This record gives sequence, structure tokens and C-alpha cells, in this order.
Amino acid sequence: MPRYRVTISGKTYDEMADLVRKHKLNIAGHTGKKVGRGYVVDAFADSDQIATLRSEGYGIDVREDVREAGKQRQAEVQALALAATAPSVATADHYLTVDDIEASLATAAAGPNAGFTQLTKLPNKTWEGRDCHAIKIAHGSQAGRPCIFLLGGVHAREWGSPDILINFVEQLCDAFRTQSGITIGGMNVTATQIQDLVNKKDICVFPQANPDGRHHSMTVAADWRKNRRPAPAGSSNADCVGVDLNRNYDFLWNYPVHFAPDAPVANSTNPCDPEVYIGPAPVSEPETKNVVWMFENFSNIRYFIDVHSYSEDILYSWGDDDDQTLTPQMNFLNAAFDGKRGVANDTKYKEYIPAADKTAAVKLAKQMRAAIQAVRGRDYTVMQSMSLYPTAGTSDDYAYSRHLVNPSKPKVFSYTIEWGSGDNETPFHPPYPEMKQIIREITAALLQFCVKA
Ligand SMILES: [Zn+2]
Repeated sequence: MPRYRVTISGKTYDEMADLVRKHKLNIAGHTGKKVGRGYVVDAFADSDQIATLRSEGYGIDVREDVREAGKQRQAEVQALALAATAPSVATADHYLTVDDIEASLATAAAGPNAGFTQLTKLPNKTWEGRDCHAIKIAHGSQAGRPCIFLLGGVHAREWGSPDILINFVEQLCDAFRTQSGITIGGMNVTATQIQDLVNKKDICVFPQANPDGRHHSMTVAADWRKNRRPAPAGSSNADCVGVDLNRNYDFLWNYPVHFAPDAPVANSTNPCDPEVYIGPAPVSEPETKNVVWMFENFSNIRYFIDVHSYSEDILYSWGDDDDQTLTPQMNFLNAAFDGKRGVANDTKYKEYIPAADKTAAVKLAKQMRAAIQAVRGRDYTVMQSMSLYPTAGTSDDYAYSRHLVNPSKPKVFSYTIEWGSGDNETPFHPPYPEMKQIIREITAALLQFCVKA
């Protein structure tokens, strides 16, 4: 049965929570938005589910058949990939393939850039045997340099994130080497700022964390999100393959224990859930292990951005419940609050964040927002990760929680960017002319972030 992307509107929190609790819908981007006196969220649904929801009074706007529309994007990538050879995002006219991304990363770390870049092979091969690489851009090695870690390509269908990060790497390396500034629309970073950045900070970029999934999405099922862990023995349904890597981190991973029974958690313990299966154990997946290894290996990481799509949001901690700044003992480590987390706008549980951390996190997020706006006027929303639908096991909460679990580890300010508008057709991988505009926007945001962090 075809699966559609739909925009659903409802009037109350409970109606929206029931989309997950009762109807078991997969939400596309968990940041439901308040519109007027109600809420709006994008989700996936088949014709039967759409009929049921309409009969219960939800407003439903049916967008594209995700798989059919995705086939158009797949055909473009395959046709153009055959014709082109130079995988540089500045000149590309199509999404870079999985191999292109690795080739571009190797090119960026070689030749004239070799003196200030370092290519690192991640220790864990993917399920399909692929190697992944990260690049460190840094001139000099004096003590006390902070590292900024940029991650992309975690969700298979979000094709543009690796392209964004390759473009960021190419622009930054070129500008440092030629002692130039970078101007993107109305966003400007001066030559002096670029020199200071690379001379005084480390920039670590891991652009394609889930190459198996991205290849599957580009060639077989465009709406694929998970990695390609083999299905459990005896399952024949194609959806039983894979784990949602951004539910597999060690942060409140065992959510049925930690969350309230009526919390609309956007996670699943069912391996055949097509979207949000959390995996058989925390950090069970080689791709997740590689990201954790980055934090361990580059112990000077102080900032982290996980690049995703879509919804034009810049999200800061936490994702498991509303933030609060007054009660430190009400926190994710305290088992006394198991069974109470994850309900928005209640008083039983809210996650603790020190007020100074929240202020600092929001300030940097707003600088990214301003950089995006300066490129072509798109207005991204700065908000907490938790909105209607709480999450567990995500990278940003894991990164920010590391120093609380183990005080010997440094604090890492952590973000998720959700690039691109839901108004685009196939918004996880919009037509490439639009994607190129988004690449410019997010490159501008990441450059400003690195300068200001
Ligand atoms: Zn994502």
C-alpha cells in the first residue's frame, strides 16, 4: 500500500500525542509546531490510516507518495552521476553519491591542504563492509584548542547533509589556504577570522556516518531512514532491516523504563518499525560506535552539531522532556523519576539544564539562525529538541550528557539542525537546485558557528 507524507493538524496536545500513542504513526520530524490555537505536524500514513484520522476529526493534507516521488530523485542522481566525474559540491549538478563523498573527503585532505588537514579512518566497518572517514582541519597543535565536531548522513534519506559538510570542508580549506574570506549571500566571514579559526581551533567533520543506508535510499527505497543491520532471523518484511542510529545512543535508551506510559515517545522496540527501531542494545551499531569513538578519540570536542533534515529548525538540549533550570536533582540519571518522563507541559518531570548553559546554547543557535537568514532570507526556528514528541537515544542528548554521566569528561554543547522546508517536494532530498541553496545556507551557519563558538 502506498505511503504518503501528510501534514496533520489537531487542536489539543492529547490529539497530537495520540498520533503516536494510539495510531502508531511515524512522525516525520518530531518537532510538531503550534499554529494558531492548535498544532501541525508532518507524518507518514497509508490510505487506511488517512481515512481513520479524517473520521476522527484530524485535518489531513496529503503530500507526495514518498516512494514514487523519491524515484524521480533517484533517477536524477543515477543519470547525472554517470555523466560527471569531479565530485566538488561547488560544481556538482546532482547529489554526491556515497563513493563521491568519500572521494571528495580524501581530496580535501590531500595535496595543498595536507599541511592543515588529517584524514582518519573510523574503526568500525558498516554492516555492508564500508569504511568511513572523518577529516580534522587544524593548523598547529597547541594545548587548550577546542574541537568542534560536525556530523552528517546519519539518516539514510537525508541525502543533502553529506553534501553540506563536504561543501563546508572545501570552502574552509580553500579560504584558509588562500588567506581569503568567505561571503555567502549577506553572510561574511573575514580572512582574519578564517585564519584565527584554523590556527586556534580544531574542526572535525564526519560527513557520511551511514553510507549503507544512504546508498540504499539513493538506489532502492528513497524513503529509507535506518542503517542496514540484517533483519532478525525469520523476518521477511523489508522493513525489519536496520536500526535508527539516532535512537541507538546511550541516553535513556531503554525508554519503556524511563518514560511515562502515556508519553508519546518517537521510538520503537520493534525491529520491523520502518523508522525508529532503537536496536537490540545501546550503541549496538557499528555506525553509532564510530560516532562515540569520535568523542573518545578527539577528547577536546566542546561543540557538536548533527546535521539532519527537514523542518528549518535549530534544536538545542534536551529532547526527552521540557527543560527546567531550578531543580538539579530532577535529571535523567535519577531513577526516582523513571516512569514519569516525556509528557510535555506537565510538572511531574522536566529535564535539568543549568541556566547559564541554556543561555549560551541559545545564543550560538541564534547566531546560526542569523547567518542562514542572511543568505536568502529563510527563517529557521531556534527551539528545544523536545516539543510534542520526546525522544531517547539521540546523538545530541548523548553528547551533552557525557560530562554529567562521567564528570571527568568535558561538557559538549550540542545541536541538531533540521535543514530544508516541508514545502519542498521530497523534502528529505529536494531537487538539487533547491538543495544547492540549502547547502549555501547551512554552510554559512556552520562557518559562523565555528567562528563564534
Ligand atoms: Zn534525521
